[in-house]
Amino acid sequence: MSVTTLIPAQASSAMTDPFGRRISYLRVSVTDRCDLRCFYCMSEDMTFLPKADLLTLEELDRLCSAFIAKGVTKLRLTGGEPLVRRNVMGLVRSLSRHLKTGALKELTLTTNGSLLAKYADELADCGVKRINVSLDTLDAGKFRTITRWGDLSKVMAGIDAAQAAGLAVKINAVALKSLNEDEIPALMEWAHGRDMALTLIEVMPMGDIGEGRIDQYVPLSLLRARLAGSYTLTDLPDNTGGPARYVRIAETGGKLGFITPMTHNFCEACNRVRITCTGTIHTCLGHEDASDLRKPLRASTDNDLLNATIDRAIGLKPKGHDFIIDRRHNRPSVSRHMSVTGG
Ligand code: SAM
Ligand code: SF4
Repeated sequence: MSVTTLIPAQASSAMTDPFGRRISYLRVSVTDRCDLRCFYCMSEDMTFLPKADLLTLEELDRLCSAFIAKGVTKLRLTGGEPLVRRNVMGLVRSLSRHLKTGALKELTLTTNGSLLAKYADELADCGVKRINVSLDTLDAGKFRTITRWGDLSKVMAGIDAAQAAGLAVKINAVALKSLNEDEIPALMEWAHGRDMALTLIEVMPMGDIGEGRIDQYVPLSLLRARLAGSYTLTDLPDNTGGPARYVRIAETGGKLGFITPMTHNFCEACNRVRITCTGTIHTCLGHEDASDLRKPLRASTDNDLLNATIDRAIGLKPKGHDFIIDRRHNRPSVSRHMSVTGG
């Protein structure tokens, strides 16, 4: 994409929702496609959106820039797998101009790591400082089972390249009943040994994946209690405004995070909204609420209509989420897949 056509982020009205929460964090899914098929995220025969429905890279840039003008200071690209989107680095490069002006404090991404070896240097060159890599196991066979065909060595090469490029890496692992729950201490020791924080995530009931969730769900309260049997966990103050709660592990010196949407309500301090690759804004991960931004984006070249639609959507941000997994609710409580909304 050509940088000359890009509009700078000009300040417009900031975004505060009806509960007084200031919106400063935007997560954008740049594609619903992925090179893996993690069994908790996608069905094996996922049907992806027609390419024509996706926002172009120029539209994604314009949309992100509109949000930055409205006070977003942290932007995370996600997917699907963001690095499979063709010329995604063109988008990263163009968005990095907002880092240079200081309007954006952080540009980051969440990736499965399989293409990271190719892009790590360029990400660092664009001003990306930290990235999240999703990795649920260090066992190559289990990795293949979880991702259906992934190659663990590619992810490891990606992490090596990212660290060599100077990027801080945080590992995100979904806690999976009888698959990786016993491996959490080893995963933590490995991550901390490489100076990476580890965040554990509870399975969220998003999208039909062809099987029930009850078989996958393990409460993090249980894993935390088990870890406390062998390690000294000290709570760290919460300063992210996000769903993660962190502890310091005395024995490793590293940070361990818990994202517990099912057992802990983290909504009071929520400062984030999400946009899908088709330009739909979701102001809460756990609600069906949605507003279309693609239409106002395409309706005119100035941002008046777009800004008004964003303001209306922020005005509808719900107070909290609706997730439930139990035996009566063994169905997705939110019908869209995580790969559409962006995790
Ligand atoms: N493909 C990239 C990756 O895997 O990091 C980015 C998108 S992925 C949807 C973002 C995160 O969502 C990953 O850490 C993944 O493990 C997590 N995720 C996907 N489906 C989930 C679910 N149903 N419950 C909890 N986490 C999920
Ligand atoms: Fe792909 Fe990420 Fe979903 Fe796994 S979790 S299938 S890597 S989008």
